Amino acid sequence: MNFGVKVEAGEKVQRMIEMTLAGETVSLPIFIIRGRKDGPTLAVTAGVHGTEYASIEAALRLGRTLNPEDISGKIVILPITNMPSFRKRTIYVGPHDGKNLNRVFPGKADGTFSEALAYQVFNELIRKADFYIDLHGGDMNEALVPCLIYAPSGNEEIDSVSVSMAESFGIDLVVKGEKPGKSYYSASHAGIPAMLAEAGGQGIWTEETVNIHIRGVKRVMGYIGMMGEKPDRRPIKVFPFPWLFSEHDGLFYPQVTVGDKVSKGQKVGSVCDFFGTELQAALSPTNGTILFLVTSLAINKGDPLMGIGG
Ligand SMILES: [Zn+2]
Repeated sequence: MNFGVKVEAGEKVQRMIEMTLAGETVSLPIFIIRGRKDGPTLAVTAGVHGTEYASIEAALRLGRTLNPEDISGKIVILPITNMPSFRKRTIYVGPHDGKNLNRVFPGKADGTFSEALAYQVFNELIRKADFYIDLHGGDMNEALVPCLIYAPSGNEEIDSVSVSMAESFGIDLVVKGEKPGKSYYSASHAGIPAMLAEAGGQGIWTEETVNIHIRGVKRVMGYIGMMGEKPDRRPIKVFPFPWLFSEHDGLFYPQVTVGDKVSKGQKVGSVCDFFGTELQAALSPTNGTILFLVTSLAINKGDPLMGIGG
C-alpha cells in the first residue's frame, strides 16, 4: 500500500490522493501499476520542483501509458509531488512555507508544509520501494544540459546499484550529490538505490526532453528486471558538482552558456548593481562543463548562479 491505496496483481490504479499537511489540504495524482508477475517495486517522483515541466509531463505519460501486462513488480509514480508549487508556478520553494522541498528530506511529520510533505513522500513511497528515481530539470529560470545525480551512501552494494541505474538511464554525464536534504540522498542513505535525472528547463518542455526522461525510466526498468530487455550500460565517470552562489541582491550577467567547458579560476559571470558596478566576479572553482545556469536577470543573495561538473 502507498498512501493507503491498495493495488492487486495485474491492476493499474490512477487517482487523486488527498493529504492535510500543516493545516493545508492538497490533492495529488498517483499512478500505481502492478504486474501479474512478481518483481521489484520502483518509486518515481517528478514535480518536487513545480515548474520542471519536461520531467512532470514525462511522469504523467509514463503513468498513463504503462500497462500492468508488460510489468513484473510494481511502479508507483507521483508526477506532481509539489502541487502548490506547480499551481502557483513557484521556482525552488513552495508557496506555503518558502522552503525548498528537495532540501528537507526525509521530512518531519509535524513540520511545516514542505517538511510534512517530504515525510509523507519518504515514508509512503520511497521507503516502500526497492529502487527510486526522482525526475527534475532546470527550474523556470534555469537552462541545463541533461545530467544525472546520485548520492554515495558509503554502502558499496547500494552505491554500485545506484551507479548501474545511472549507467542504464542513457545520459553520460553523472555527478555526485553529497548534501543531505535531497530525496535521492535520503533514499540511498536508507538503503534504497536511487538517482536523479535532469532534463529540460526554463519552463519549456519539448518532446525531446520529455522523451529523455521516459526513455531513461524505461531503461532503468529494464535493468532492474521489470520490463523489456536489459539495456546496454555505458561505464561512466562520476564528477563532483560544485555550485556558485550569488553573494548579493542584484543583476546576474553570465559570461558562459550551458554546455560550455570552463577552467578553474575562469571568470564565468558577474553580479552587478543597477548602475553596472560589479559586486561579485564569479570564478569557476573547477575545470568542467556548465551543467546548469540561472538565466534570470534578477538574482538574490544566496541564489545559485550555476553548477559545474563533468
Ligand atoms: Zn529540480
